[in-house]
Amino acid sequence: MSDYRSGNGGSEDIRLLYFFPFFCYGVVMRLVCLDLEGVLIPEIWIAFSEAVGIPELSRTTRDESDYDKLMRFRLDLLAKNNLKLPDIQKVISGMDPLEGAAEFTEALRQKTQLIILSDTYEEFAQPLMKKLGWPTLFCNSLVTSSDGAITGYRLRQKNGKQLAVKALASLNIEVFAAGDSFNDLNMIREASAGCLFRAPQAIREEYADIPCVDSYDGLLAYIDRFLAE
Ligand SMILES: [Mg+2]
Repeated sequence: MSDYRSGNGGSEDIRLLYFFPFFCYGVVMRLVCLDLEGVLIPEIWIAFSEAVGIPELSRTTRDESDYDKLMRFRLDLLAKNNLKLPDIQKVISGMDPLEGAAEFTEALRQKTQLIILSDTYEEFAQPLMKKLGWPTLFCNSLVTSSDGAITGYRLRQKNGKQLAVKALASLNIEVFAAGDSFNDLNMIREASAGCLFRAPQAIREEYADIPCVDSYDGLLAYIDRFLAE
């Protein structure tokens, strides 16, 4: 029996030549990477700070560009106030996605795939991921002691948002990226296209070359343009 791998002729060889032009590599796929907090859900630390009445805990990546400094500041405050992971999880379980975010996510996933690139933690994200229809999430994790105290954090990798976009590009996947903070800028710059979303005034002004949108309809319009290119 003839086999195309043996190259010894027969009708299969002719069929292979006929189909060959339909097979090619290098076809580009497109998808969307979004930041989580401030884009699809409220800032968890702000909600927690309000719930426990500690205003200093409301500092976020919008205010502090050095993530390690910010996290050490937060963990210090938690320890001083004897607040533990279950206290934060309790507040998170009562939170909802931002108004319109679940509908936006649903509409987006009918057009393309969505990966959330977030600096949040697995231990925080789950209840809100459920409310957003379980999009794919790349994030970090916390280190806790047996009594639930948060003693540290583990980054999946340094500069993980930008490197995820870079890795996707190596798989022939072009990315549209959007976020609201300092820690999203490298991701947006690395992507084939992107924008800021509801960024604070200082970031809009400092990075005026990156467009900024304030509504899900506006964001979807940018994404539509990227997908149609
Ligand atoms: Mg954010």
